[in-house]
Amino acid sequence: MLSRRVVSASGTTQGPLSAAVPGGLNATRPSVAPLATMNRSTPPAAVTRASDAAGSSGSVSQTWSGGIGLPAQALRRPAAQLPGFRDRGRPDARTPGRPDAQRRIPGSSAASARRHVTQRSPAVSPGPCQPGCTLSRMAERTRAKRPAAGALTTRPRSDTVGRGTASPSSWALGEGQATPWEYAPAPESRDVLTLQARYGLFIGGKEVAPRSGQWFTTLDPATEEPLAEVAKAGPEDVEQAVTAARRAFRRDWGRLPGRERAKYLFRIARILQERSREFAVAETLDNGKPIKETRDVDVPLAAAHFWYYAGWADKLEYAFPGRSPRPLGVAAQIIPWNFPLLMLAWKIAPALAAGNTVVLKPASSTPLSAMLFADVCRQADLPPGVVNIITGPGEIGMALVTHPDVDKVAFTGSTAVGKAIGRAIAGTGKALTLELGGKAANIVFDDAPLDQAIEGVVNGIFFNQGEVCCAGSRLLVQESIADLFTERLKDRLSTLRVGDPMDKNTDVGAINNPAQLAKINELIQVGVDEGAELYQPACELPSRGWFVRPTLFTNVSQSSRIAQEEIFGPVLSVLTFRTPDEAIEKANNTPYGLSAGVWTEKGSRILMMTKRLRAGVIWANTFNRFDPTSPFGGYKESGFGREGGVHGMHAYLDLGEGF
Ligand code: NDP
Repeated sequence: MLSRRVVSASGTTQGPLSAAVPGGLNATRPSVAPLATMNRSTPPAAVTRASDAAGSSGSVSQTWSGGIGLPAQALRRPAAQLPGFRDRGRPDARTPGRPDAQRRIPGSSAASARRHVTQRSPAVSPGPCQPGCTLSRMAERTRAKRPAAGALTTRPRSDTVGRGTASPSSWALGEGQATPWEYAPAPESRDVLTLQARYGLFIGGKEVAPRSGQWFTTLDPATEEPLAEVAKAGPEDVEQAVTAARRAFRRDWGRLPGRERAKYLFRIARILQERSREFAVAETLDNGKPIKETRDVDVPLAAAHFWYYAGWADKLEYAFPGRSPRPLGVAAQIIPWNFPLLMLAWKIAPALAAGNTVVLKPASSTPLSAMLFADVCRQADLPPGVVNIITGPGEIGMALVTHPDVDKVAFTGSTAVGKAIGRAIAGTGKALTLELGGKAANIVFDDAPLDQAIEGVVNGIFFNQGEVCCAGSRLLVQESIADLFTERLKDRLSTLRVGDPMDKNTDVGAINNPAQLAKINELIQVGVDEGAELYQPACELPSRGWFVRPTLFTNVSQSSRIAQEEIFGPVLSVLTFRTPDEAIEKANNTPYGLSAGVWTEKGSRILMMTKRLRAGVIWANTFNRFDPTSPFGGYKESGFGREGGVHGMHAYLDLGEGF
């Protein structure tokens, strides 16, 4: 069964990283696009498998994004004739001595990784990444000043113009029309956010000090400076939180009619929208992701989930006809650090709409947006104990999910912890959904609209610094266009601006925590050691904070660790294929099965591929599009169960035997 919904495709092709939310990331962009924007006739689509049962075809929903109408013949033209394409006769990008030449990454420990990413390589000459590098330096200088949002400035750039080479920013222009430009700093103001010095636990509708008496500090990944102290919960706090949730379920929430629950959810959605700027700043400071992403993706999508599930709260009988849906009880929810607010919304909104109460544990490195959300619950007059939030280490998460009075467990995070939770609660009768890692293949056929595919591939892996479970971390490109595509991808990478996440022009922000940075750098080194060819644009990284350059590996073998393991960072491995069969074989050759992307002009090929790819979510001619109405979840080691859509409600309901 196919159902289609029309969503806007704006934002997919214009900015350095495209938005997952219509009209989003490019709002502050200047009109000069680094690569020519081209239209298309092939509609982008997100195909989501609604069933996670192995081998089941399930119901399939397709989300069509509106095409932007390129004359169809343009798509059939050879790539060299496409708008925006010029053979620039560049010297070989892998010439020894150039910044992108293969080189060794020193060390893999956190300390040496930090040294590596912050050092200035002597081999690095001013390269095409200059706009971003300049921005990083300028952002550093101006971080203290935080001037008002800046405008695009144009001034001669001796490093590129003098040598007669067009800068990437001018490639969209005609021959001889190079207009060198740089971005002025455009930092978001911190003034919209007032952080408490300390955040307690949110239990029974009140902020309480931890019975453990312990606190820990959450840091800004871009500066390594402390943001606030946060309570470190102990086992007694877990007990108190679960008790509060159970009481609220028995007395209030579990008995409330759906239409009344919906009012609270609508209220939360509206407050999130009203306080969106504050949430965006908090999330960027705590997580390190660019402000344009928190502003245009995380916060609006979080609000959208509450709007969406508010609509279901009083329609459960219609969603599951012939059943008498009942809430499960107390839900224990553990979320990761890569999308703290959004994951909170994915978990809390359907749970509450279904009539459950929750105890949520955010990741230790990103507790702030959850603590702000506690304030939203108070503002919305949510009955005490319906939402409880406890902060603390992983052991607290384990104590929470194994608590005997918990009925449902929902976890998003690493496969290792997901498995440990599965083992710990096996046989207890608790309902469980796991959303774990991924190693998605983004498959580009030779008939794909190349400009859009480049943007989609870039968005697929560099959005959120690649710290995305469904990131398109493996590019499978058809052999006939592999060289051309890779060269253009490198050009595009060199225009990404890496640096201060609070700057509205930043494309790639900071890595969330030093352990993750060390893991990324270790796997980059593994790639080099295994013989893959490394490309990194010559960005100068900020001297403080946890940053890593956008990284691309070519000459990657299928068995290489960088083609098999989840890196969870801005690292793309490029592989090639000749036939659709080979593409499917390679795409499915991974322990994971969360997402995939297909880029082709042919709708029939999209349908053929989506049938045979073993991934829970498959995007066609787009990537990383999220929508509260679409189910999301994985196969194999990517977990089971679905979040989003009516399927997301299912996970929080007792529908009786046999459903
Ligand atoms: P974890 O799985 O350790 O963390 C995710 C959440 O689980 C956090 O809230 C964490 O708390 C909590 N947690 C940790 N240990 C336990 C436990 N034993 N029982 C219950 N809860 C626990 O991920 P990491 O942060 O360590 O990241 C490691 C790797 O996991 C990444 O490199 C990436 O590959 C993958 N990952 C995948 C994500 C996804 O969206 N699928 C998200 C994040 C990571 P605390 O923060 O306090 O440790």
